Amino acid sequence: MPPLDRIRVRAGLHAVVDQMFAQLGRMADRRGFRIVRVESTNAGFVIIETSGLAAGAEDIVAEAKEAARTTCEHCGKPARAVVKVGLEALLTTPEIELGDRLLCTDCSHEFMKEIAHDC
Ligand SMILES: [Zn+2]
Repeated sequence: MPPLDRIRVRAGLHAVVDQMFAQLGRMADRRGFRIVRVESTNAGFVIIETSGLAAGAEDIVAEAKEAARTTCEHCGKPARAVVKVGLEALLTTPEIELGDRLLCTDCSHEFMKEIAHDC
């Protein structure tokens, strides 16, 4: 495991990342292979930086990236919608992290309310 400050993924993706580490942990030989950084960015995209090589490791990493593309970033359920987060969202929620979100139906409704203008 990399130091925890190198892992910055949204809550719903923790399970995806956990599973990836579990699978990597079960590999017979992964000497020299390391996960350097995991970070979720825009809607469904996870950056997984690795170093070294190990047979099968690339597949596990690719699978995790693929899973992130269909997983709600907030709760981990199957995702349905991309919610755009533009600069105007800062007006109502100044602490918001910019970058679009990939969400399930329920979470997208909640999230839209959260970032909507009050006018
Ligand atoms: Zn959700």
